[in-house]
Amino acid sequence: MKKSAHFGITAIFIFHLSCLVALASLSGCSDDLSAPIISNSSDPRVELSETEQVNQDPPSASCSFDIIVGDYLKFNVNEMLVQKSCGSVSINLKHEGNLAAKMMGHNWVLTRTSDVTEIAADGISVGLSNNYVNTEDNRILAWTKIIGGGEETSISFSTEKLMVGDEYTFFCSFPGHSFGMRGPLYVEI
Ligand code: ZN
Repeated sequence: MKKSAHFGITAIFIFHLSCLVALASLSGCSDDLSAPIISNSSDPRVELSETEQVNQDPPSASCSFDIIVGDYLKFNVNEMLVQKSCGSVSINLKHEGNLAAKMMGHNWVLTRTSDVTEIAADGISVGLSNNYVNTEDNRILAWTKIIGGGEETSISFSTEKLMVGDEYTFFCSFPGHSFGMRGPLYVEI
């Protein structure tokens, strides 16, 4: 197919169509006009869908977690995957905000999913001085103290009580936070 200077817009449009038809039938299209059609229509979308695919993958199992919180009601992780074979799991909680603990304090508490509502309510009743955690309740599997802006804290706990396949939830027990600041914790072998 030869391009000529006197080709009108209509002719070029028709050429594009015939070029696409040629591509669709896998017979190829040798003219230069075919190059921009291919790159503009396919590359960006392919990259975007690959990125989305990666984000939807389950989290990688780990024995140590760096969890970031701030002046908002959110953990930087939506879900966690722990290996029972770790033996011990470390939680490093860091508050990158500016607000004091009494205003926007956060902690990280782990219980069975079925116990969250009751444990969170009990936590509120024991107050900030007790980190909103009733430590006498052995349904609490692990917990950190409440921290405010600029603070950080770390804990380690045994995976002995964690059962593969059971449903666990981590949450913040600061009053009003547990509804938004929570996520599932999965245990694998
Ligand atoms: Zn919180």
